[in-house]
Amino acid sequence: MRPLPCLFGMHLWDHCRCARCGALRDHEHDWQGTCTCAVCGATRNEHHQWVGCRCRMCGAELHKFIPAGPEEHSCRRCGLVEPHALVTDARWEDWGGWDSIGPWRAQENEYLICRRCGWEEFVKSTGRIQV
Ligand SMILES: [Zn+2]
Ligand SMILES: [Zn+2]
Ligand SMILES: [Zn+2]
Ligand SMILES: [Zn+2]
Ligand SMILES: [Zn+2]
Repeated sequence: MRPLPCLFGMHLWDHCRCARCGALRDHEHDWQGTCTCAVCGATRNEHHQWVGCRCRMCGAELHKFIPAGPEEHSCRRCGLVEPHALVTDARWEDWGGWDSIGPWRAQENEYLICRRCGWEEFVKSTGRIQV
């Protein structure tokens, strides 16, 4: 059972948390000049405490990955090497080129792409075409 004043919405706010019942609100966080609220752990996207490419407070990362081969990418800033985070992506592409009669043929192709570094690898055509 909550303390009576809190039941009526009269919380005893200490920054973002009620000192009486522990309720949280999403303002007046205790940032202490960082990205992470010392009271409730909420984060904001400013005042990160960067150690290399990683914020020691919230774990945000600043890496600028570039492909380092078919298996992995590396960070241009700190040199960290990690495997690609590959996901499958299918997209329609102009695959036939122009011919004497008309424009093009579109074909659906499947790729493996890494959103972290932009690496992409053609896998196969899904066999769906549009003429
Ligand atoms: Zn309260
Ligand atoms: Zn907070
Ligand atoms: Zn941070
Ligand atoms: Zn980095
Ligand atoms: Zn990658």
